[in-house]
Amino acid sequence: MSNSYDVVVIGAGPGGYVAAIRAAQNGLKTACVDNWQNRDGKHAFGGCCLNAGCIPSKAMLESSELFHRAGHEFETHGVKVGKPELDLAAMQKRKGRIVKQFTGGISQLFKGNKVDGIPGTARVLKDGNVEVTKLDGGEKETLQAKNVIIATGSTPVELPFAKFDHERIVDSWDALDFDEVPKRLGVIGAGVIGLEMGSVWKRLGSEVTMLEAEEDFLWMADQQIAKEARKQFKKEGLEITTGAKVTQAEVKGKEVKVTYEDKNGTQEVTVDKLLVAVGRRPYTDGLFADDAKVKLDKRGFIEVDEHNRTSMKNVYAVGDCAPGLMLAHKASEEGVFVADVIAGKTAEMNHDTIPSIIYTAPEVAWVGRTEEQLKKDKVPYKSGSFGFAANGRAQAMEQPHGMVKMLAHKDTDEILGVHIVGPMASELIAEAVLAMEFRASAEDIQLTIHAHPALGEVIHEAALAVDKRALHGINR
Ligand code: NAD
Repeated sequence: MSNSYDVVVIGAGPGGYVAAIRAAQNGLKTACVDNWQNRDGKHAFGGCCLNAGCIPSKAMLESSELFHRAGHEFETHGVKVGKPELDLAAMQKRKGRIVKQFTGGISQLFKGNKVDGIPGTARVLKDGNVEVTKLDGGEKETLQAKNVIIATGSTPVELPFAKFDHERIVDSWDALDFDEVPKRLGVIGAGVIGLEMGSVWKRLGSEVTMLEAEEDFLWMADQQIAKEARKQFKKEGLEITTGAKVTQAEVKGKEVKVTYEDKNGTQEVTVDKLLVAVGRRPYTDGLFADDAKVKLDKRGFIEVDEHNRTSMKNVYAVGDCAPGLMLAHKASEEGVFVADVIAGKTAEMNHDTIPSIIYTAPEVAWVGRTEEQLKKDKVPYKSGSFGFAANGRAQAMEQPHGMVKMLAHKDTDEILGVHIVGPMASELIAEAVLAMEFRASAEDIQLTIHAHPALGEVIHEAALAVDKRALHGINR
């Protein structure tokens, strides 16, 4: 039967489209059903990451950083360009072109790999088959599915007292698409989205107020790195108020009055736009027929076992809708893993080596455990850190800020965590991920030749510092 599949994937974000490609590569007849609709009402594959998240935000981060550097740094290099002028429409157009290139690329990949990409809304039925309501025309069809991979992703958490009107109180997607620079931008939540979007609009000229409920800035990161990052962000003009719990947001004409509580009592701030970036929740609304019983946990994530199997036979879940870090690369890796499990191949998913990255200036990136976690887990450890200030390449780039910190087991020397705040941390972390995937020791990195002059030398020196043998710094 033409509508009978070995695998039906629901969702074409980085979890789903990658799972579909790998399933097809494994010789399985595969369909991928996806209902993403852009603001123009048109469907595009790629989910939030490609259409409204990772890709457009990185485009805006890059453009805004160049704008900022042209105005603040070029002169230091002896390059006089005068006061740079912002053409936000051109910046947005460039972003749109990149997004289109990537989302269109998925259609090509589906064709090339013989995946049937179906624009439609899927519902999992009790018997494990999948009902699809086509986006074009609303026609219904039931796909016979031997296996289902759910990769429906997540959606922004909405605060009951600050509901999105998408004009004044906005989510991260809205904040990527502003057609003018808000004079005053308020941000609730100094997490990954808050910091990245706050950076973009700060560099383009907004006065940014960031309010974070937790006392500890970047509580999920190593606190030495978090402190250094906060210091650097402050220098960039990005001020963050921690211990500030927002309790109310009221739209009044073209302004939003934000009320929050901090150690000094009740405070108020008025902004032109308010970005709510307080996390995302798994998206499973309307996904299951009433009689299709799949277990969700208390927070709404689909419960899965170590092979990402849900409580329904032959139904799997990957990415943001399943427990674990809400990151595109975690979703993709789980997608590959499940597609291989279904095909009966050897498959492995290592949750201990998933890197986290924040694309600020300087960037923050880490993999493995923080010093706080090692202390809590009572693991004996050694720590070595090294700053970018002593690195020739970082100085040449005019970005000699931040550090690399490496944590290794005190007895076995195995690397347990690497934490970076500094230039190109997003790229540098790959070495640490690979080292940890191979269970390398700090000595393995010490004995590895690192090119000179390059930023990677700071990782080398941090590894040497673990044993108090850094060459270009005083070991304490
Ligand atoms: P987050 O969990 O990173 O941060 C949300 C922050 O909001 C937290 O620090 C929390 O303490 C704070 N908060 C919650 N309620 C608050 C309140 N009432 N007042 C003030 N602060 C409050 O969530 P996010 O930034 O929305 O990102 C969502 C997800 O998307 C995350 O899992 C993130 O990892 C992912 N993401 C990743 C990237 C990347 O990899 N570079 C980029 C964007 C998003």
